[in-house]
Amino acid sequence: GAKALKRNTWMFFAPELAAASRERFTMDTGLRRALDRQELVLHYQPQARVDGSRVFGAEALVRWTTPEGEVIGPGRFIALAEEAGLIHTIGRWVLGEACRQAREWELAGLPLRVAVNLSGLQVVQGDIVGDVREALEQSGLSPSRLELEITEGFVIGHADEGLERLNGLRRLGIELAVDDFGTGYSSLSYLKRLPVQCLKIDRSFITDVPGDPDDETIVAAILSIADRLGLDVIAEGVENATQLDFLRSLGCPAYQGDYLSPPLTAAEFTERWGAGGLAREA
Ligand code: C2E
Ligand code: MG
Ligand code: MG
Ligand code: MG
Repeated sequence: GAKALKRNTWMFFAPELAAASRERFTMDTGLRRALDRQELVLHYQPQARVDGSRVFGAEALVRWTTPEGEVIGPGRFIALAEEAGLIHTIGRWVLGEACRQAREWELAGLPLRVAVNLSGLQVVQGDIVGDVREALEQSGLSPSRLELEITEGFVIGHADEGLERLNGLRRLGIELAVDDFGTGYSSLSYLKRLPVQCLKIDRSFITDVPGDPDDETIVAAILSIADRLGLDVIAEGVENATQLDFLRSLGCPAYQGDYLSPPLTAAEFTERWGAGGLAREA
């Protein structure tokens, strides 16, 4: 009966719930200390043109190394940081560190554009224009060497509030990209109104091309829209030569993914792509 079911359900779920809330509590507390203890680190994934695989940029991706030595990816703590109100502090650190690194590379003769992921909350709640201006000033990085990625879901949900801030970012001289493009529910009309320069095709559309006719059509459609609107495109999550050849045959200008390189530490990145290595074939 219902009583038995209720009791069983309780018995089944209670330990899991307790464990989940315990992990949450620990993560929350740990994350609060992570910045002070310098436990956050940025890894960089190269971005390249499809012809000749010339590397022109790097996407900064945050990781958290706990005192226990466990490396936690952003998928496990960014949402928590948003809920805990920590995303602004973390976001400012990411901006500052990415700009500092990009300037270091620039001075070392490695002129990369660094892309930084923004949480939607950073755009609607904080002073994102001030934060970016400060990161640029402190590092001395030229604004043209910084790109900010915003997600399509955010763009659609907050187009009006966010628009003025995005325009403010553009006025600083930086570029904006729509991350995970194609995964939102969109009329696409926002592309006309928002000051974005680049679409990043979501990895989920790349995984099964060539081969999956639907995904092939979607990728071709995105490229066509971008071309007509004068937008740049970066395909994400390219894992093999077949995918890259397919993208090249459709005229996709740029890509990133494990085929070129997984995200690297700054030192690994410099080692592999530094000293004239940008022009080197992948
Ligand atoms: P994203 O911006 O779409 O980043 C791409 C993700 O795909 C990265 O995961 C990257 O490691 C992974 N990836 C790249 N190439 C390949 C590939 O060829 N195959 C596969 N299977 N995966 C690939 P990561 O680093 O775990 O980041 C996950 C997401 O976390 C990012 O998605 C981004 O939305 C968010 N994120 C990362 N860093 C930050 C940050 O500093 N701030 C904010 N707000 N979000 C961040
Ligand atoms: Mg991204
Ligand atoms: Mg993405
Ligand atoms: Mg993503």
